[in-house]
Amino acid sequence: MLYLDYAATTPVDPRVLEEMTPYFCEVYGNPSSRHAMGEKAQAAVEEARKTIANQINAKPSEVIFTGGACEANNLCIKGIAECYEEAVHFITSSIEHKSMLAAMKDLEEWGHKVTYVKPDAYGVIDPEDIKRAIQPDTILCSIMHVNNEIGTIQPIHDIADACHEQGVIFHTDATQSFGKMPLDIADGLDLVSASAHKIYGPKGTGFLYCNSEIPLKCQISGGSQENGARAGTINVPGVVGFAKATKIACGKLEEEYERLEELEGVFLNEIYQNVPLTYLQGDEDYKVPWICNLCFYDVDGEQLRQALSDEGICISRSSACAKSGAASHVLDGMGTRDDLSSGALRISFGRNTTKDDVIRCARAIAHYVDQLRG
Ligand code: PMP
Repeated sequence: MLYLDYAATTPVDPRVLEEMTPYFCEVYGNPSSRHAMGEKAQAAVEEARKTIANQINAKPSEVIFTGGACEANNLCIKGIAECYEEAVHFITSSIEHKSMLAAMKDLEEWGHKVTYVKPDAYGVIDPEDIKRAIQPDTILCSIMHVNNEIGTIQPIHDIADACHEQGVIFHTDATQSFGKMPLDIADGLDLVSASAHKIYGPKGTGFLYCNSEIPLKCQISGGSQENGARAGTINVPGVVGFAKATKIACGKLEEEYERLEELEGVFLNEIYQNVPLTYLQGDEDYKVPWICNLCFYDVDGEQLRQALSDEGICISRSSACAKSGAASHVLDGMGTRDDLSSGALRISFGRNTTKDDVIRCARAIAHYVDQLRG
């Protein structure tokens, strides 16, 4: 089996699992319980919060643990919207993760207004377009850091500046970049979402960083956990694992980025040499090296994905959260032609990917594209 779908999820690092293990059967107390077992669990949660907060230069009290990034995105958007009784305006892009787009649609149903800014043909959002979209009643703008389908890196610092010039709060969904690229809230990030399972941590654990000056209404009621921002017993092994995964990933940030850049070069070279009429989505200079969205002209992408899967090569066509078979809203948003997007695959590399792996994948793609084109 060759797994090349690291943008969808990653395997748990054995060191992360080892760190989590005692919190299942030994230190199993409820962190809210005021006895020795509860306090031990609470101390582990607070230590994890500190580790994650340090990584983005935030205060620990500003990190809210959630059940993943979908929840963090919903908490951010709805938690802020609910602080306003009157209709207000929000900005996002048309190529955000489905959890952001769906949360924004909910806001529209609640009577708020939302502007969906379009990217250019490379999938990049222009800060000038954000500036133009700001209205007197704009409250918040959310633009993801790295796009999960095409890997484009958005100019979030310039966008944050454009927002702050006009008093607009800026949120970024950093699920595809946290633990892979430097991220510092001092660069104008008022809120940040991230998830453990993209960085070799457990599934079902994420966080929302929220600047302490920003009011946020809790979306899951029923307890005072997370300073009242999110009710529910904290997933202690999950957050302990998230912190360990963060430490490991951030300890090798640059080294791993460079290694993946090399792999991307080898992979794309093989593809370009052996598969004519192949188009990389996004700009090679403004994308992360571990996500390659390739459009194969005159190929049914679904058949290609299946042929590769039958050979044990695990690749997705787009986001795992999108409805299977549905056209990609990201490629659509960038204006990619239908005869190209219908032949799209998203190949994503990770920590266990080797040069041999990417060559094997490129050659298999060349073989099946040839076959499918007849
Ligand atoms: N945002 C982005 C950019 C993502 O890639 C994902 C994962 N597909 C999510 C949010 C959702 O994360 P989770 O699975 O932790 O809910």
